[in-house]
Amino acid sequence: MTHPVYARIEGPVILIGFGSIGRGTLPLIERHFDFDREKLTVIEPNPALTDELKARVPNVVTEALTEANYRDILGGLFQGSGGFVVNLSVDTSSLDIMKFCRENGVLYIDTVVEPWAGYYFGTEDNAARTNYALRQAVRDEKAANPGGTTAVSCCGANPGMVSWFVKEALLMLQRDTGRGESVPETREGWAKLMQDLDVWGVHIAERDTQVRLTPREPGHFVNTWSVEGFIAEGFQPAELGWGSKETWRPENSHSHSKGCMAGIWLEQPGANTRIKTWCPTPGPQFGFLVTHNEAISIADYYTVGAPDAPDYRPTCHYAYHPCDDAVLSLHEMFGSNQIQEVHHILDVDEIEPGGIDELGVLLFGHEKNALWYGSRLSNEETKSLAPDQNATGLQVTSAVLAGMVWALENPEAGIVETDEMDHKRCLEVQLPYLGPVEGHYTDWTPLTDRQTQFPEDLDEANPWAFRNVLERL
Ligand code: NAD
Repeated sequence: MTHPVYARIEGPVILIGFGSIGRGTLPLIERHFDFDREKLTVIEPNPALTDELKARVPNVVTEALTEANYRDILGGLFQGSGGFVVNLSVDTSSLDIMKFCRENGVLYIDTVVEPWAGYYFGTEDNAARTNYALRQAVRDEKAANPGGTTAVSCCGANPGMVSWFVKEALLMLQRDTGRGESVPETREGWAKLMQDLDVWGVHIAERDTQVRLTPREPGHFVNTWSVEGFIAEGFQPAELGWGSKETWRPENSHSHSKGCMAGIWLEQPGANTRIKTWCPTPGPQFGFLVTHNEAISIADYYTVGAPDAPDYRPTCHYAYHPCDDAVLSLHEMFGSNQIQEVHHILDVDEIEPGGIDELGVLLFGHEKNALWYGSRLSNEETKSLAPDQNATGLQVTSAVLAGMVWALENPEAGIVETDEMDHKRCLEVQLPYLGPVEGHYTDWTPLTDRQTQFPEDLDEANPWAFRNVLERL
């Protein structure tokens, strides 16, 4: 495999966080960009990683970034304008760091709108703990300071790559329903296309079948990416983009009073909220309604009409079946009300052959019922594509790579989300790392084979209504 060098980065390259995603991203940066190596810095406070990092990169900062020190630490690394900050850490404010980078003319990218440490568990107000609120603060900053140095918000696998998949899936659906091959050029055009195709909603439908060679021990939280990140988002309220076709709402749901108005949240933790969804490998399955930025951003992007009374908006949410060990870890955690003390992220070499991360978008409720479009990357293939990561990691890090390429090619685009980027260009960069990327139609709906021994409050006329998707038995 030859590895194209996409661009030169003038100035410092600063990686914040060397966890599972930072570790996997570094070799891709080294492979695909030209930059001055002596200007490469990794900021990573975990002392267990310091020696390894010092042997690998010229500059290592071992202090954790905080609200009090980030301007001093980052400012000390900047060299006038130019350079790139790649934020792949937990517990650092994406918004603050993004603003500081833009003030200094430094490109910025992250994979999530992350708050400073303590926010997720120290905030009493559940509405303030939503991704809607975290995202809206970034959107407000974009509105207040349009244009300027590019900062790419939420460019991982999801949020991130899946927004590019939504567009590819829409084009496939357009083609397969005989509506031609034209490609919309504006947000309004894309939203109109989804409306014309009469898509009820979108699940970010994921099945992670990566299995550890040795069984999980009790008291261990095992996952294929950040355990800390997953627990934090898992305890946030369940949350979704709220579509214009829905006629029923859960009693414990809440709207927001300001902002884009595209989402609602439920008074219950997302990782303890089950929904019915579909992926190619398992077919029908439970997913968890874990809150994610893209649930709101996609619903917002594809809105037609007034934000508070749209003519059209898709329902959109995550439907996540993590690896089996993570499902068991969640079960143990919610059952005991205790967060496990041992956190473990599966390394590429401790996963049985055959495991894949099947991550895509399920567009449903249209004339062809449902279309899943996504990446079915195996751990074995991942080993041959890039070092230091499992399949889940590579779907994220290759999206970071694509986002960085796009930012370097569009350095004055202001704050952008992945819905707003050139999805063709981004996928062109990312596809070599995604394994099979496929579209699969299904005739399954949430009412298919529904058991009838216990009464359920269903919407028989609208199979894809959230009333049927949300598990309430
Ligand atoms: P991880 O837990 O493996 O690593 C996070 C790293 O950040 C750790 O090494 C930790 O020491 C470091 N860190 C903690 N506090 C810090 C601070 N104050 N300053 C600097 N570094 C600090 O997590 P990961 O799996 O590498 O994920 C990293 C981030 O990417 C998380 O925010 C996660 O939610 C996000 N993520 C996004 C996607 C996506 O698809 N969009 C997917 C996976 C992970």
